[in-house]
Amino acid sequence: MIRFDSVTKRYPDGTTAVDDLSFEVGEGELVTLVGPSGCGKTTTMMMVNRLIDPTHGQVWVDGADVAGVDPVALRRRIGYVIQQTGLFPHRTVLDNTATVPFLSGWKKARARERAAELLDLVGLDPAVHGSRYPDQLSGGQRQRVGVARALAADPPVLLMDEPFGAVDPVVRDRLQKEFLRLQAGLHKTVLLVTHDIEEAIRLGDRIAVYGAGRIEQYDTPASVLGAP
Ligand code: ADP
Ligand code: ADP
Repeated sequence: MIRFDSVTKRYPDGTTAVDDLSFEVGEGELVTLVGPSGCGKTTTMMMVNRLIDPTHGQVWVDGADVAGVDPVALRRRIGYVIQQTGLFPHRTVLDNTATVPFLSGWKKARARERAAELLDLVGLDPAVHGSRYPDQLSGGQRQRVGVARALAADPPVLLMDEPFGAVDPVVRDRLQKEFLRLQAGLHKTVLLVTHDIEEAIRLGDRIAVYGAGRIEQYDTPASVLGAP
């Protein structure tokens, strides 16, 4: 579903963020990218939805080299969840979630119905939380809205950048469990960035362990745990 072919990303200032990276993610697979800060995880992820373009090499999504795909069309098929959820502060939770369906041409009432279903899916009560504004939610609830919004267009691919990083350990534990349950039903192809090896092991079908600009190990949780 996602394939990196000898991908290098060099920023204009000369920093090589990703160096000759090749790996594949199968359909419905959840791959965690783990490693210390600055080793190229976010750069890798942003090349999938063309927020960043490679300097060399190709990134393939669903059989197409993304360099030839219109970024707007691409992002419609790729949900994106970030730590600072990027919710619109002056719109209610329901309207935040309804934005994507509405912009893709759904009638407002239908977009809101869909938003309510999505909030329910991520464990929020649309009748209670839907009319609140983002700053009237807890951190954990905001992250759930971020996930609901990313799922709005029912994209086959999800990119998640430290999605559970901003909440306390108890809430994180619950969000991880909920996300695993959700993923078991949805089978999205997921790339999830984290600096937390425990999270990577817990969530990933496979784990990409990064060193500086490179994947040093790409394997199942059991094999990563068993490594010397
Ligand atoms: P990670 O997500 O693992 O923390 P990043 O992909 O954000 O790593 O960054 C990889 C490297 O690229 C780091 O050295 C970072 O400082 C550098 N980098 C990231 N974005 C830019 C940029 N826009 N310009 C120059 N260097 C950058
Ligand atoms: P979670 O475990 O999902 O992060 P919390 O335990 O932090 O949730 O929050 C518990 C309750 O407090 C929730 O119903 C939430 O809506 C409410 N709450 C948290 N922060 C705020 C806030 N700033 N304004 C209004 N309600 C809040």
